[in-house]
Amino acid sequence: MPRRTKIVATIGPASDSAEVMDELIQAGVDVIRTNFSHGTPDEHRQRVELMRSRAMAHGRHVGVLADLQGPKIRIERFRDGKVKLKTGDTFTLDAGCAADDGDATRVGLTYKELPADVRRGDTLLLDDGALVLWVDQVDGEKIVCRVEVGGELSNSKGINRQGGGLSAHALTDKDRADLKLAAEIDADYLAVSFPREANDIHEARRLLREAGGHGAIVAKIERAEAVDALEEIIEAADAVMIARGDLGVEIGDAQLPALQKKIIRMARSMDRIAITATQMMQSMVISPIPTRAEVFDVANAVLDGTDAVMLSAETATGENPAKVVEAMGRICAGAETHRIATESTYRIHERFERVDEAIAMATMYTANHLGVTAIAALTESGSTPLWMSRISSGIPIYALTPHVETRRKVTLYRGVYPIGFHVDTVDHAQVNKEAIDELKRLGAVRDGDTVIITKGDLMGKRGGTNAMKIVQVGDMVEPQDT
Ligand code: PGA
Ligand code: MN
Repeated sequence: MPRRTKIVATIGPASDSAEVMDELIQAGVDVIRTNFSHGTPDEHRQRVELMRSRAMAHGRHVGVLADLQGPKIRIERFRDGKVKLKTGDTFTLDAGCAADDGDATRVGLTYKELPADVRRGDTLLLDDGALVLWVDQVDGEKIVCRVEVGGELSNSKGINRQGGGLSAHALTDKDRADLKLAAEIDADYLAVSFPREANDIHEARRLLREAGGHGAIVAKIERAEAVDALEEIIEAADAVMIARGDLGVEIGDAQLPALQKKIIRMARSMDRIAITATQMMQSMVISPIPTRAEVFDVANAVLDGTDAVMLSAETATGENPAKVVEAMGRICAGAETHRIATESTYRIHERFERVDEAIAMATMYTANHLGVTAIAALTESGSTPLWMSRISSGIPIYALTPHVETRRKVTLYRGVYPIGFHVDTVDHAQVNKEAIDELKRLGAVRDGDTVIITKGDLMGKRGGTNAMKIVQVGDMVEPQDT
């Protein structure tokens, strides 16, 4: 049985070669993340092109998620690359300091308006909370702080305020330029960093479409305001990322586990995709095996119902990217055998607005209760397999589609596997036969297996799924049978 939970791997210096990409594909990576916080446009272009060509060589589909930098507020740079701050020191964040002129007493800021946003008594967290500063006074362009928790501070580290509320707009000028790059590289997903409200998501989608991009929009939940506007943000997006790194800094790490469960539950019930991100296999940046805590973290995210688990430094800069993907895949597959992962309560009390949605639900109900081997969803846009994958199940959902965009998009859907499928005929029995033959050829089904096929009367029309058929492999229907 193929693994259902999908793996997103961030590509970086450790994985930016054909050899490592081949290893990642063999280890089962489903989606790569290219992070616009680092690297040049050319590096992103080449990386995506290389991954797609390697995936093609392996006969696989790998989705591409382009991640905007967003208004992450960062310190500028130090003359010597880094400094050491001692607890009790005075340290000044100075919007007037030149970009590479920082020292042990002060450093510049990428966001010049920060002094207007903070006041005495605020707590600022640097480097994902590793260092803590207490704001003593704001004096013009200077934020004078007392070091509450010291440590080493190096160039361009991020700044968060405890409790959130920094007013930087979600889409920066750099993001607007990068949106065009995302369209150009044909990203399947575009992640919006630090959105505050639904409008940030709508705006990103509008700009992406204007630039000719077709990608789905991922809302990264990583600031306190987003937690307050959770429902409207999820509604506006196609997918959400539980961006535990920044989110934990803003709302406190102790709040994260319950919130992760809530976000995943909401996303699934609203027919949106959920990605669980950050530090899932952190120790494997240097270690050959995960800690027990990491095994449990990945497994618990699977049991929470996440569509995908994400790797950041583990695959971008870690010592053995493919080994991490392999270990993560193994943990996901283990967790998926648990009953919690396959049992569903369905949508008993819901009314369905659309015929294709009703077909998707009827299919899952039947599949889980009749015991079928596979579901073959003949789909144009991927909506039917999306609905199907919102219902917990252990049965694989094959998305058979002629559209490469749809095949790449479903790489992120839990339990859904893309298959290229072109038919010239409109004869239903013939289409069914060709679909089953394709599944047989791929080793997904054998003679005697039961398969559910869903499709529309008018193939080629989006949103047209109106039929479900239960067939026995090897006992195929005659051409006049529909
Ligand atoms: P990042 O987002 O890796 O782009 O910072 C994820 C997170 O904040 O957890
Ligand atoms: Mn983040």
